[in-house]
Amino acid sequence: MTHVLTALAWPYANGPRHIGHVAGFGVPADVFARYMRMRGHDVLMVSGTDEHGTPILVQADSEGLTAAEAAAKYNRVIVEDLDALGLSYDLFTRTTTGNHYKTVQELFTTLHANGYILQQKTLGAISPSTGRTLPDRYIEGTCPHCGFDSARGDQCDNCGRQLDPTDLIDPKSRINGETPKFVEEDHFFLDLPAFAEALHAWLDTRTGWRTNVLRFTKNLLDEMHPRPISRDLDWGVPIPLEGWVDRPDKRLYVWFDAVIGYLSATIEWARRSGDPDAWKQWWQDPEAVSYYFMGKDNIVFHSEIWPAMLLGANGEGAGGGEPGPLGKLNLPTEVVSSEFLTMEGKQFSSSRRVVIYVRDFLERYSPDALRYYICAAGPENQDSDFTWAEFLRRNNDELVAGWGNLVNRSIAMAAKNFGAVPEPGELEDVDRELLATTRAAFDTVGELIGANKVRAGIGETMKAVAAANKYLADTAPWKMKEDPKRQGTVLYTVLQAVSDLKTVMSPFLPHSSQRVHELLGGEGVFAPMPYIEEVADLDEGGATDGPYPILTGDYSDTPKWESVPLVPGTVLEKPTPVFTKLEPSIVDEEIERLNA
Ligand SMILES: [Zn+2]
Repeated sequence: MTHVLTALAWPYANGPRHIGHVAGFGVPADVFARYMRMRGHDVLMVSGTDEHGTPILVQADSEGLTAAEAAAKYNRVIVEDLDALGLSYDLFTRTTTGNHYKTVQELFTTLHANGYILQQKTLGAISPSTGRTLPDRYIEGTCPHCGFDSARGDQCDNCGRQLDPTDLIDPKSRINGETPKFVEEDHFFLDLPAFAEALHAWLDTRTGWRTNVLRFTKNLLDEMHPRPISRDLDWGVPIPLEGWVDRPDKRLYVWFDAVIGYLSATIEWARRSGDPDAWKQWWQDPEAVSYYFMGKDNIVFHSEIWPAMLLGANGEGAGGGEPGPLGKLNLPTEVVSSEFLTMEGKQFSSSRRVVIYVRDFLERYSPDALRYYICAAGPENQDSDFTWAEFLRRNNDELVAGWGNLVNRSIAMAAKNFGAVPEPGELEDVDRELLATTRAAFDTVGELIGANKVRAGIGETMKAVAAANKYLADTAPWKMKEDPKRQGTVLYTVLQAVSDLKTVMSPFLPHSSQRVHELLGGEGVFAPMPYIEEVADLDEGGATDGPYPILTGDYSDTPKWESVPLVPGTVLEKPTPVFTKLEPSIVDEEIERLNA
């Protein structure tokens, strides 16, 4: 049994998340975590909403809310959506908690003590009319990279690049239109070049990474510069140094605090579990493993910057040093990055309304219908396109006609003819063959999920489903009225195959596996689900705005990844369909909705 940290990218709390987001970080990670639990590993799946930085402030302004109110609002929306999708977080929290602030400041302090945080003069903007610092987001100008004319002083919303106010062409104050004055002031930088050698050495030990991630990371390491970690900003984690900590206009940069969330969320989970030291099993045990899931725009933070921060906190950069109060911390085992999901051929964009929010999707379709699409056709190794026509086809032709049909036909036939799981007679070769196929799926599919090959994993599972459907067609048990013994044997065989397949399917499609378990006469929880709990912040000093929802769960009843023999005589009732067949008209309806 291994401790497996499943670390999911932190969704940004400036609005609801769309299906492209959950295709990148959410569903693939949940498949992995559920499978690892079924293999008996000690899995901890953590994340939360990323709530600092300028876009939250801009969103808050546009809604007439405070930053804390806006963050709380979208934190709740996102928690509810991830819950509805059945993502089995042990803890989904927030970056505004007191626990997170404390952990971030501890890590900063350790990095600073070890000499990996440089204080450098940079040009900061002040307002000539007031003489006060002008926060980055209040400066607007033309992006030097793409020419977008309303880029902000910290990032360009058009091309997504991070900027400094001095990068902008023709900068102007968004408050009164005046041209800011740039004066020298101190800021903090993470000394990335001090980790170049250690990062190269670490990367050389990484095996099994997706080639795009490895190639991208190696390129990053060839050109490393100190990276700013403080901003002129009034929303974020205060800088824990004398002379800085009380300044209202200086905060740690949002990315610096957000990546530390993986650690702080584990610590928060341990504290809430009643064993405050339990987090160390995932972070300090050299045998523990950690898998980080994200979209490709976030690779840099997980394969370069976060490992550098961990090396620095361990005292393992070029300048040496000592581990801080959190001890020596594990670097990522693997950075699992997805490519992008596009939508009817276009990039998802909330502002351009090329978007399907998770919530809207789940109002009309089942969570497993979305999970199936993401697993079977998601952007695992290359960008992939979501189209409603393809969603319809996959749902109706594969999910309903393949897996759903197998479940319903076999259970309905057994219920009608026997009212129970029939007692099998002697198995024939054809029966043994089918059961060998579904049993072999545990090995083949398990290996694929363990290697984060979700598309191939569900593909192999569907092949076994097809074999079971073919078995039914070939043996035709509905024609066996004269030979109830053989009919019972055939139906027993196919029900056993269905039972095996519902186990193999459960990491991908947990909601329907739970239903199949019940249709087969099973009781209790088969595929454990997360739930929402309202909690109070554990500590003072953060920026949460009253009680808030976390996503958590008890996954101790997870079944084992193995074939369990069905018990003849188990009562079966006429099943209702597990999946819903969709009308072809939904394609036009959805496209109209998009264009509305
Ligand atoms: Zn730009």
